[in-house]
Amino acid sequence: MSAARRVTILGATGSVGLSTAAVVEEALARGEPIEVEALAAGRDVDKLVALAKRLRPRFAAIHDETQGPALREALAGVGCAVGAGPEAVVEAAERPADWVMAAIVGAAGLAPTLAATNRGATVALANKESLVCAGDLLTRAALKAGATLLPVDSEHSAIFQVWEGPEWVEKVTLTASGGPFRKASLAEMARVTPAQAVAHPTWPMGAKISVDCATMMNKGLELIEAMHLFSIEADRLDVLIHPQSIIHSLVHYVDGSVLAQLGVPDMRTPIAYALAWPDRMAVSTPRLDLAKLQTLSFEAPDEDRFPNLRLAWQAAKAGGGHTAILNAANEVAVAAFLRGETGFLEIGEINARVMDAAEGPSLAAIAKSPSSLDELRAIDETVRHFTRDVLARIR
Ligand code: MG
Repeated sequence: MSAARRVTILGATGSVGLSTAAVVEEALARGEPIEVEALAAGRDVDKLVALAKRLRPRFAAIHDETQGPALREALAGVGCAVGAGPEAVVEAAERPADWVMAAIVGAAGLAPTLAATNRGATVALANKESLVCAGDLLTRAALKAGATLLPVDSEHSAIFQVWEGPEWVEKVTLTASGGPFRKASLAEMARVTPAQAVAHPTWPMGAKISVDCATMMNKGLELIEAMHLFSIEADRLDVLIHPQSIIHSLVHYVDGSVLAQLGVPDMRTPIAYALAWPDRMAVSTPRLDLAKLQTLSFEAPDEDRFPNLRLAWQAAKAGGGHTAILNAANEVAVAAFLRGETGFLEIGEINARVMDAAEGPSLAAIAKSPSSLDELRAIDETVRHFTRDVLARIR
């Protein structure tokens, strides 16, 4: 990289945020001209303070207002401004960084991601909900502000790295590890506990996304993300199970060529690609040794055991607010599962019931595409309420 880059990390203490910090620290240690503008976190003051002391941002924000005093006290004398509450996180996004990592999990990431986009920044998107719930809104905002949206998810980074389309692209295949229950029977899946569901075989991640991997909703959300990022129709996207997570996705071209990106599963690779784009930068991840690995295997996904995949396709094809409806239903269902209030298989069942309702009178009014963040919030709230009712009836 030639010119100095100012970077901001939103969701700095989560799994992607910490990997981003590691990539930045490695670049700083090599003497690369990077400055950290802002760091924002949800509620983990200790981790945020440790990061701020190492990365020396101009501004540190914590979403949880009650943690403000603790953050202020811990960073006194460090020479970094401090803010607390949701507005402080938006302020972090609005500050003049060239490059913003949007890695806040869930709907809370939407407003700051949009704020960074609206001021024309290069936004590295790790917050799935932004595109899943507000894909049209976000891509329109990026176009208007001249912002660049870059993928961070390993699959979308892989597609982006081999992208020559869209005119020559026949099909895009997203690979999936299949999660911890790839081989489990329905009877076994019915007994799955939260602890079992959050133990992912190849990628260490947060609880919500780990459950989404176990139910394959994560792949469903990624399908919707890919549709927006690459302007490709849902029926030209498919999913392939690849348990070793070495091939991160494939693009099929009209001449029969299939291009793929490979690498040891480590988030620092797609993060470094997004940070250095359109160049590349060094990062000390473990290197791929195919001779040692010997076997890469593949299988078709089973939509009977993983109905969330089918639901995501349905939502992607229906477009409009359907993808936001599916996302909100899933967030409520997963949270209930993690609290032990519902079973593992019920997550898909709850999602299916809510998606059915989106076709009927109860939710039809909100199934159109949201044109503002307020409209999206209204959809989100209505669906969460509706899903809690479904949950109460299912128990
Ligand atoms: Mg992924």
